Amino acid sequence: MGQASNDQQFQHLSQAQLADWMHQIQLNAPHGTVPNYIPQLAEADPDRFAVQIQLLDGKVHACGDIQSLVPLMSAVKPFLLLYLLEQLGPEEVFSVVGMQPSELPYHSLIQLEADQNRPRNPMINSGAIALADRLPGRDAETRCQNLCEWLNQQSGSQWQLDQTMLASVRSRPNPTNQTIGDRLQQAGCLENRDMALDVYQQICCLSGTVTDLAASGLMLANAQFPQISANHRRIVNFLMLTCGLYDASAKYAVEIGLPMKSSVSGLLLAIVPRQGVIACYSPLLDPAGNSVAGLLLIQTIAQALNLNRFG
Ligand code: GLN
Repeated sequence: MGQASNDQQFQHLSQAQLADWMHQIQLNAPHGTVPNYIPQLAEADPDRFAVQIQLLDGKVHACGDIQSLVPLMSAVKPFLLLYLLEQLGPEEVFSVVGMQPSELPYHSLIQLEADQNRPRNPMINSGAIALADRLPGRDAETRCQNLCEWLNQQSGSQWQLDQTMLASVRSRPNPTNQTIGDRLQQAGCLENRDMALDVYQQICCLSGTVTDLAASGLMLANAQFPQISANHRRIVNFLMLTCGLYDASAKYAVEIGLPMKSSVSGLLLAIVPRQGVIACYSPLLDPAGNSVAGLLLIQTIAQALNLNRFG
């Protein structure tokens, strides 16, 4: 099917159709679990379900609990990467992290060890912790604020640091992330381990709604943001496609065929290049850490509207 008819189908998506797909998914009560290692996330209401679809022509479809405030967690990773590509350029960024998909979970120490402590890609924890160390700013608060302000100014989103979520994350120090920090430090990948981990925790706690996620995601979908380099946008899309759903990325690259990024909070962002974005929220996760209902919804939309980039 040609590009023109794809565009047309995405444009003709109706609100009623979207609501019906969400209803069908909810009726089948997708199985999954909320993460238990961050107390505040463990309390998430498993029935929450929200989507915002934003097309480049300005058309918006929003359905479900779109007012829910959710921390970005791993969904910050594409934006951290984009920001650093813009600030430092690809050469410096990829002297710190690789571009290879990982076949192991996002916090895998085995993967890091197999790679001689060089983070395999920016979409897993080791890569994002290493990149958090490179954010400009004199302290962790300033670094987080710099990224947040840049994102809000560029995309019109309204991300804000959720202090309650941050306190919750800090109340249960994550031993795996700390070990990743130790190993990166030993390998000479970090200038300041404690600050890198602190920055990483803070940027994970930037919170907003699916509306904010859709607004920021649009920066990756099109050329309406001339201030963002097209090459940097392509790099982020490529890494989302190949690494954005961790060890499940290859499966969904084939089945859905869109650059995507998930997070432990249940956010899921799909980029439909040159057309728009789909931003979802549903807190129940599959074993790889991806939102079960979010994936089902994006899969349904992509199939029905022929959005798979690979035909
Ligand atoms: N802050 C989370 C962590 O490091 C982010 C991981 C995720 O969203 N998958 O555990």
